[in-house]
Amino acid sequence: MGAPLISLHGIAKQYGEGELATRVLHDINLVINRGEFVAIMGSSGSGKSTLMHILGCLDRPSGGQYRLLGRDVASLSGDELAALRRDTFGFVFQSYHLLGGLSARENVEVPALYSGLSRAERKARAEQLLTTLGLENRLGNKPSQLSGGQQQRVSIARALMNGGDIILADEPTGALDSHSGAEVMALLTGLARQGHTVILITHDPKVAAQADRRIEISDGRIIADPGPASAREDTAVPARPRPAGSLATELLEAVRTAFRSLHSNLFRAALTLLGIVIGVASVITMLAIGNGSQQQVVQSISAMGSNLLLVRPGAPNQWGRRATSTLVAADMDAIKEVANVAAAVPEIGGAATLRFGNLDHSPEINATSADFPAARQWALSAGTFFTADDEQSYATVAVLGQSVVDALFPDTDPLGQYVMVNNILFQVIGVMAPKGASPWGQDQDDVVFVPYTTGGLRLFGQQFLRSITVSVDDVARIGDTEAEIHRLLLARHGVEDFQIRNMSSIIDTVSATTRTFTWLLGSIAAISLLVGGIGVMNIMLVSVTERTREVGIRMATGARQRHILQQFLTEALVVSALGGAIGVVLGLAAAALVGRFEIPVYFSLSPVLLAFGCAFVTGLVFGWLPARKAARLDPVIALASE
Ligand code: ADP
Ligand code: MG
Repeated sequence: MGAPLISLHGIAKQYGEGELATRVLHDINLVINRGEFVAIMGSSGSGKSTLMHILGCLDRPSGGQYRLLGRDVASLSGDELAALRRDTFGFVFQSYHLLGGLSARENVEVPALYSGLSRAERKARAEQLLTTLGLENRLGNKPSQLSGGQQQRVSIARALMNGGDIILADEPTGALDSHSGAEVMALLTGLARQGHTVILITHDPKVAAQADRRIEISDGRIIADPGPASAREDTAVPARPRPAGSLATELLEAVRTAFRSLHSNLFRAALTLLGIVIGVASVITMLAIGNGSQQQVVQSISAMGSNLLLVRPGAPNQWGRRATSTLVAADMDAIKEVANVAAAVPEIGGAATLRFGNLDHSPEINATSADFPAARQWALSAGTFFTADDEQSYATVAVLGQSVVDALFPDTDPLGQYVMVNNILFQVIGVMAPKGASPWGQDQDDVVFVPYTTGGLRLFGQQFLRSITVSVDDVARIGDTEAEIHRLLLARHGVEDFQIRNMSSIIDTVSATTRTFTWLLGSIAAISLLVGGIGVMNIMLVSVTERTREVGIRMATGARQRHILQQFLTEALVVSALGGAIGVVLGLAAAALVGRFEIPVYFSLSPVLLAFGCAFVTGLVFGWLPARKAARLDPVIALASE
C-alpha cells in the first residue's frame, strides 16, 4: 500500500571527473519498506558508506533516482534535505561522532536545537532517552569520560532525539569490544521491533545475521538481496515532539553556543578580544581628548564674545605688526555711528611699572573706554569701572586685574588706594573678575585698565590706538556691519591702512582646525579597530578549520546552512560586541584618567555609539567570510575530516 519508504533506481556514484573518475556505486536498485531491519553487508571499500550517505541525504548520487516516501530526493532543496536529516533520519557512526566539548546530555540535545524544541523539553527528552539506554549516571560526562560502548549509546540516543524513523548505522559495532557490540546490537534490534526502520551497515556476517534481511554489496553492486518484506504499518514509531521553532530561541541558543566555544579556548578568545578592546577604547579616548581640546579652545575664544569685530592699524598683509600709527579716537567715534554697532572700545597698550608701598609689578596697561566691560562681557568683582566723564576729564583712575591685586595688595583692600604708574598717582576704583589664561596661555588678569585719554596723554605720550573692538547688536548682521566699517574707514583714511577681523569667523576657523585634529586622532584609532577586526577574521577562519567535523556532525543531525552561518557569525559578533563593551568601559576610564592631568576631555554619546557600532560591524564583516565558509561545507566531507 502506497509508495515504499525508500526506493533506489539505477543509483550510481562516482568521485572525480574525466580520467580520474572512480565509480564507486553502479546501478543500485533497492526497495526498503517501513519497519524493516536491513543489514547491508560487504567487504571494506565495497561502497557501503557511500550508499549510506546517499540514503541519509548527506550526499547526492551522480545518477539514478532516489525516492523517499514517493518524493524524488533530487528535487529537494538544501533546506529540505536538512529537514529530512533532522526529522526522519538518525545516524549512528562507527566513530560515534560526538561533540567533544559537550556532555552526553548536550550531545543528545543537538538535533533538537535545529527542530526548535524548548530548552526544558530538550533536556527532559535527552535525559529520558539516556535513561532508557542505561546512561542515567553519565548525563554530565564528556565523551572522553565515556567508554566506547557508552559513547555509541549516546549517539543512538541522539539518533532518536527527533524521532529517528529511519536509523542509519554505519559499522556501529566496528570499534567496540564484543560485549559492548552485543549491547549495541540488542538496542538496535529493540528499536527495529518498536517500529523504527533500521539500516545497518557492516562487514561482519555475524552482526548482519541479526537483521531480518541481508543485502550483499560487492564492488559497488548489489549481489544478493532477498527482496523487501511487506511494510509494517501496524507498529507506529513512538510520537516525537513536534515543536514550532522560533528565531529568538535559535539566536539565544547560538549565543549560548558562542559563549561555550569561546570559553573552551579562553586564552585565544582573550587575545582576539584584546584587539577589539584596544581598538574601541582608543577610538573613545582619542575622540574624548580631541573633542575636549576643541571645546576648550572654542569656549575660551567664544568667551571673548562672538559678536566682536576687531579693528587694527596696518595694511591687511601686515597683521601682527605693532605700532602702526593710523587709528585715532575720531575713527572710533565715527564707528559708533554705524548701524548695528553697540559699542566701540579703543585700546592703547603698553607696559608700565606699578608701585604700591614697597611692592613693584609690571603688568600690561590697557588704556580703554568706559564701554570695555560691556563690550568684552567682563564683569568686575569689586568697585566700579571708570565712566565717560572720567575719559573726558583725563581722570587718573585705574581698574586692576586680579593678578595685579595679588601682586601689589596681598593683605590690603586695593579699593581707594593710590598706586604709582610711571610716577603718576592713580586711584584704584575697581577690580576685574578673574578670567584666567587665554587660549594662548597668557595671563589675562595681569592687566591694569585706565581711561584711554589719560593713558594716551600721560602714560604713553601718543594718541594712536592699538585697536578698536567693536561689538554689534545683531550677530547675524555682523558681516554687513564689518563691510560698513570697512567703507567708512577707507573713506576717512583714503588708503587701506587698517584691518578688520571678525571674531565669529575666527572661532569658525579655529574649531574647523581642531575638528580636523579630532578626526585625525579618531581615524588613527579606527585603524587599530580594523586590525582588531582582521584578528577576529583570522581566529574565526582557524576556528572553522578546526571545527569542520563539528560542522559535519551538526549538519548530519539536521542543521541547515543558515544554522551554521548563524552559529559562526554569532561567535564573531559575540567576540566583537564583548570586546566593544569592554573597550567602551576602558576607553571612558582612560579618558577620565587623562582628564585628571588637566588635559581637557569631553565625553559625548556619539563616539561611544560610533566605536561600539564599528566593533559590531567589524564582527559582522570579518565574521561573515569564515561563517559562510563553514556553512558551505559539504556534510560528507566535513564529517570525514579529523
Ligand atoms: P566501505 O564503507 O564499504 O568500506 P566506502 O563507501 O567508504 O566503502 O568507499 C567506497 C570506495 O569509494 C572506496 O574505494 C573509497 O576509496 C572510495 N571513496 C570514498 N569516498 C571517496 C571520496 N570522497 N573521493 C574519492 N573516493 C572515495
Ligand atoms: Mg565504510
